[in-house]
Order: sequence, then C-alpha cells, then structure tokens
Amino acid sequence: MILAYKYKLKPSQSQQNLMNDWIAMLRSHYNFCLRDRIDSYEQVKSPRLGNYSDKRTKAECCPLSCSVSKNSSLGDPFKKGGKKRNAYEMQSSELPKLKKARPWYKQIHSTVLQQNLRKLDTAFQNFFDGKGYPKFKTRQRFKSFSYPPNQIKLKDDKIYLPSIGWMRFFKSREIPNGFSVRTITVRQKADGWYVSIQIEDKSIPSPEPKDLRQVKAGIGCDLGIKKLLALSNGEQILNPQFEKRLERTKAIRQRRASRKKRASNNQKRAFSQLARIDQKIVNQRDDYQWKIAHRLIRLADVIVLEDLNIQGMIRKCRAKQNELGKFVKNGQAAKRALNRLIRDCSWGNLKLKIQSVAAKFGCIVSKVNPKFTSQKCSNCGHIDKENRHKERFLCTNCGFLADADNQAAINIGTLGLEILGVSPSKLLGVSQKVTTKSELTDSASNSQEKSTLLEVEPSNPLQLSLFEWRNGQAIVH
Ligand SMILES: [Zn+2]
Repeated sequence: MILAYKYKLKPSQSQQNLMNDWIAMLRSHYNFCLRDRIDSYEQVKSPRLGNYSDKRTKAECCPLSCSVSKNSSLGDPFKKGGKKRNAYEMQSSELPKLKKARPWYKQIHSTVLQQNLRKLDTAFQNFFDGKGYPKFKTRQRFKSFSYPPNQIKLKDDKIYLPSIGWMRFFKSREIPNGFSVRTITVRQKADGWYVSIQIEDKSIPSPEPKDLRQVKAGIGCDLGIKKLLALSNGEQILNPQFEKRLERTKAIRQRRASRKKRASNNQKRAFSQLARIDQKIVNQRDDYQWKIAHRLIRLADVIVLEDLNIQGMIRKCRAKQNELGKFVKNGQAAKRALNRLIRDCSWGNLKLKIQSVAAKFGCIVSKVNPKFTSQKCSNCGHIDKENRHKERFLCTNCGFLADADNQAAINIGTLGLEILGVSPSKLLGVSQKVTTKSELTDSASNSQEKSTLLEVEPSNPLQLSLFEWRNGQAIVH
C-alpha cells in the first residue's frame, strides 16, 4: 500500500536560498531538454531536409545529419552493448557534460537532476497516452523537485535532504510502523516549503475493488453549482463557494499589488500576500472535498458520477460579427460569471478525490453520460423538457414531484448500476412507492395527486455537517 504524507518544512534562510537556486536551474534544464525532445519529435513527424539554416541552432540539416533517435538528439543514443537508449537514458547520459560546461549545476544533487528528467519523461508519456502536449514551464508553474527512494533520512522531527542538509519540519502526524520512505518531493508554496513523502508497506496489499455481487448499496450523484452534490437518497451538499467568499479580499489585494512600484520589495510582498489568498481558497476547497469523498464512501459501495465535459462548459462563446464586419456582443460577458462559478466548484478535483478514496477502500466509481438524466422521470421513465422547472421536477405524464437535482441523481445512479450489471434496487433512495400509470388514468385524481404532492415541496438545501456517523454508520436526517 502506498500513501503520501505532507509536512511543512522549517528551512533556514540559506537553505531557502539554495532551494530557490535549484528550482531556477532545474526549470531551465527542464525547458532545455523539452525543447530538445520537441525538436526531435517534430523532425521525425515532418522531416525538414535539405540545406537550410536553423536560426536557433545554426545547424544545417540533411538526411545524413538527422538524429538517430526520434526521441532526443542530446547524449549518446547507444548503450555499451550496442542497444538503443530511450529518451530519458539519452538525456541522462548528457548530464556529466552539462556539469562540465556549466559547473554551477554541480551543486544540485545528481539524483534530483535525474528525477527532473523523469518528470519530463512522464509529461511525454502522458502526451502519448492522449493527454495534452508537454508545456514549457514558467516560473509560476515550476515549484518542485524530488529525490528518488533511499536518498533521504528521517530522524524525529528532522529530515536530511542530500546536498541541502538537515532541516526541521512540523511533524503533524507519525509515519505508521512498517512503512518505508519512497520518493519525496519538496514543493514551494505561497506560505513556505512543504515536503510530500511517499511511504509504502509491501506487506499490506492495496485493496481490490469489491466483487459486484457483494455490492450492498449504490449511490447516484448529480453535480451542480448551488448544490455541489445532490444524492439519490435525497441529501444535498451545498457548495460553500470558497472563491466567491474571498473574492473581495482578493480584489483588494490584487489592486494593492498592482499599484506598487514594479519589481520593488513592496510589490513582492504584496504579491505574496495575494498568493496566500489563492492558497487559502485551495486549502479550504480541498479539505471540504476530502470530507465529501469520505462521506460518500461511507454511504455506499458503488458511486455513480456524471461524466461532464467541463472544458466544453467553460468554453468561450464564438465571436459574433454584423454585416459590416464589426464585432457585436455575443453574451460572453454574461457567461464569464457563470464560468467563474463553474471553476469555483472544481468538479474535476472532487471526482479525483472520490476516486482516490474509493480506491483506498475498495469501492467502485463509475461514470455515466448525463444525457437526459435531468429531464427523465425516475418514476415512469417519461422524458420531457417540460418536466423540469428550475429546482422542481414535475412529471407531465405521471405527476411525480421531486427535487430536480435529487431526481437526476436517481437517474444517474440507476443508469450506472445498470451498466455495471447490479440490480437498481440497491440504489439508495429508490424505495419510494412506485405509482403505475394505470392508477392515474382519471384526470381528476391526476390533478389531485399533483396538488397534494405540491404541498410537500422539496425544501431548500441545508448545509450538511459532514461528520455525522456513529459506529461506521452514516446518520441521515
Ligand atoms: Zn413520470
């Protein structure tokens, strides 16, 4: 079982300066090697042959001087036995030359430089797996370095980082017995330096996902903005909108920083105070999301989420032109506020946290296409746009009334369990009386049914207190 524990470091001023230097150097090394890999990759994709001068490298290209490897042009492409090296190995073999040409790179611990190349290799691996193209790192996006296993030492509340030295840290929790230290990552944040220690105990197996036949309960979740989550059992989890709460403070600090003299110490301080606000927002949101994830795991074995296209939802509106070719309003100004709210929800991170907690406890997370889930009646299956009116769901066919979001969560849950092959009766919140259509043939009784149901309209969502369980059982109000 592999876990990651985070601690805040207490480096001395000279250690801080050293780590800052390291990060600056590692960043330029990363970007240099990334450029090398991109060039080699593009050269293979669409070879540029013939005699021409590349402005940057000032090198002539011809079929004979092409790179042997399509991965990298740095370093030696062959191992001693004559086998081909991969890109990481090639760039790694270049490191001694780098240290000769630029002696200041000697102060960085050699394994840290290798880990830096590994990071780049992972970025390319992700790209080959269909994720984004590797990016050049700006100073804001490059804040960490890591040591491979068996490099650091731990003693009480002190940690030894090779080439940096011993340093104290806030030991907020003990590393459990039997766990050995794996890779560690040192990261700079707005309020100081942190270390993330990966620990592993091979004697504890990572939990296997539960057998589908053993599933006791499933739950469907509908993601939203005002209610962050609506569950199929009728619960609603509010979105505290952490960013919106601190919006005003952030704007004030932003304005204050922008009015300071450029590159002055005053401006630096103002920007660091601004960055602290951002860190606070992230911390608050993370904390809340971890608690939600744990709550869901305690409720059910199978968690069904919607597969939302978040990037598509926050895409900008297409530019509109009139007949004279002049740009006219396209509604982007109004959408900007909505986009901000969507970003504040951070659904992607919430899903990741639910998945990671589920993996820890052997629960199953499944994602379904949310198409029609908010329009379909979970009682009779009737799909109609008219069914939904803001937060209220009223079926035009059978008169079923419910909160629109909880109703959608039931649909999502049922769909997810069907895909997995689990009986939908195991979904939490589907025990309500099923009214068949034949009972409602009389129009008079139909209208009466509606009016009685309307009296018990879904109440407004309540703020959930998130630690409401005893003896491992969640207490649902
Ligand atoms: Zn219905």
